[in-house]
Amino acid sequence: MPKTIEIKVPDIGDFENVDVIDVMVAEGDKIEKETALITLETDKAAMDVPSPYAGTVKSLKVSADDKVSEGDVILTVEVAEADDEEPAAEEAEPEKEPDEAPGQPEDEPKRKSEPQPKAGEYQGNVDIECDVLVLGSGPGGYTAAFRAADLGQKVVLVERYDSLGGVCLNVGCIPSKALLHVAKVIEETHFFAEHGVKFGEPKIDTGALREWKNSVVGKLTGGLVGLAKRRKVTVVHGVGQFVSPHHLEVDGKDGKTAIRFSNAIIAAGSEAAMLPNLPDDKRIMTSTHALELEELPQRMLVIGGGIIGLEMATVYDALGVEISVVEMTDTLMPGADRAIVKPLEKRIRKRYENILLNTKVSKVEATKQGIKVSFEGKDAPKPQVYGRVLVAVGRRPNGGRIGADKAGIKVDERGFIPTDKQQRTNVEHIFAIGDITKAPLLAHKATHEGKIAAEVAAGEKSAFDARVIPSVAYTDPEIAWVGLTEAEAKEQGIDFGVGEFPWAANGRSLAMGRDDGVTRIYFDNKDGRIIGAGIAGPGAGDLISELALAIEMGADAADVALTIHPHPTTSETVAMAAEAFEGTLTDLYAPKKR
Ligand code: NAD
Repeated sequence: MPKTIEIKVPDIGDFENVDVIDVMVAEGDKIEKETALITLETDKAAMDVPSPYAGTVKSLKVSADDKVSEGDVILTVEVAEADDEEPAAEEAEPEKEPDEAPGQPEDEPKRKSEPQPKAGEYQGNVDIECDVLVLGSGPGGYTAAFRAADLGQKVVLVERYDSLGGVCLNVGCIPSKALLHVAKVIEETHFFAEHGVKFGEPKIDTGALREWKNSVVGKLTGGLVGLAKRRKVTVVHGVGQFVSPHHLEVDGKDGKTAIRFSNAIIAAGSEAAMLPNLPDDKRIMTSTHALELEELPQRMLVIGGGIIGLEMATVYDALGVEISVVEMTDTLMPGADRAIVKPLEKRIRKRYENILLNTKVSKVEATKQGIKVSFEGKDAPKPQVYGRVLVAVGRRPNGGRIGADKAGIKVDERGFIPTDKQQRTNVEHIFAIGDITKAPLLAHKATHEGKIAAEVAAGEKSAFDARVIPSVAYTDPEIAWVGLTEAEAKEQGIDFGVGEFPWAANGRSLAMGRDDGVTRIYFDNKDGRIIGAGIAGPGAGDLISELALAIEMGADAADVALTIHPHPTTSETVAMAAEAFEGTLTDLYAPKKR
């Protein structure tokens, strides 16, 4: 005989009158055990209520926009008599010792020989259980969460801020690119003022600009909320700390949520490094503050000539601020290919007030007139006063902030969490991805690693085996590089050749009013394969993908040169750099090299 049973709102922690934001079943629907019935949302989390029974929905007692508390009836379901016993809680799998990890590559991170941190124990209540917990919702974290959900895992995504998307979407890549696009538009109008089209000096409304930038960010972060919901990923907002190898406690606005997980993926990122002994003054900014465009000072000092410093300098320069950059090494963007940094340096040396290489900041004082900065170095100028100072001296991983020791996870002295090629930490069922694992600290590395971790957590045999990770600085000109730089190829003693094409001979570049770009490709003389490349010029970041693919595919010069590239585009510079190496180039007079 079939039986009709009421399904009630289960224990949802300390919440009362929680919003029902979605009802996923209708009267007459056949449902299985674990079918999601409704989605509840508090300001801390969205969660699905699964059915404990299989059967047919007889009558629905709630609808979207209702409010419910524990014990309220959601619906009645007709079940076959044999099926009406509530399923016993599944027995937890015995925890494997880290040393038992199957298929563990021998080298990194060693689980047997090195002393491991002693993990904590957790005896408290559990509010949410899941297959995969992802800590951090940046590009790496949300990708991992969504991939794991697509592979059938029950996923919880924990984020300390109200908005999903992490540094990249909220205060990094995306807002900076929105402002860099504005900078490009302003620069193009300046250029054409001298070539027949005058718009007049731009009037900058920083408030409207900020709103537009925020709207771009909002579209993306709002999109993530929708994507999480559609995949039934439970999002919990608050600061997450491990309390045992299988538990994470989230401290949110409405109190604590304890989550038990089978696997965890740590994607907790990095934060801006600060110099010691800086006065507490809002005129001293990190890139997060600089993106808010609170004020356009007359003069600004950028400490650190790396990617962040030079991208923000590009924005503030276009908005009319006099820029100085101080960099402690002998070159801008150390680590990038020298030959492609040159066109950038040449352009900004003409535009900026000062570029100080081999120079350190020795003292920073807040005065009424501005921030007074003293310098140290062979060519150091006398102390200067700036309206604002941007500190962009690198980023630090957040490994020390997540209670890693309680889960037995090893964190190195710099705050990085070592992983193997499957993104596993020293604890077999805990993975780490993105900035928190190792350099380069790039969003696209994090997303790639996020997919691997999610796939491995879901039982697939994925591993990181990309040959190269491209880098891009969205300066003007853009600088992009992939694989070995010329200096690295020399250091490694590789017998290599260079194919180079100057953008001064590219029609499309000239039509954009630019003749300062360059495309360079490095080829191994042994087999002609591409080992690295660097591009400077507008849109270099988009062009570098072709060369990343070429390296992944083991392409040689002929593969690139004989691929027909559309005319007129800047992508032709890639083919022509390969032709220059091949000796088949006709767009320049280049004597045959091979
Ligand atoms: P960075 O490490 O790229 O550059 C920091 C620079 O500051 C270095 O050149 C360093 O020599 C210099 N420096 C350090 N201490 C100094 C001091 N006391 N005085 C003067 N100079 C000093 O770091 P970043 O630019 O802050 O960027 C941080 C991370 O974020 C990097 O890993 C970067 O790759 C990544 N990021 C990438 C992008 C992108 O892909 N477009 C954009 C922004 C940031």
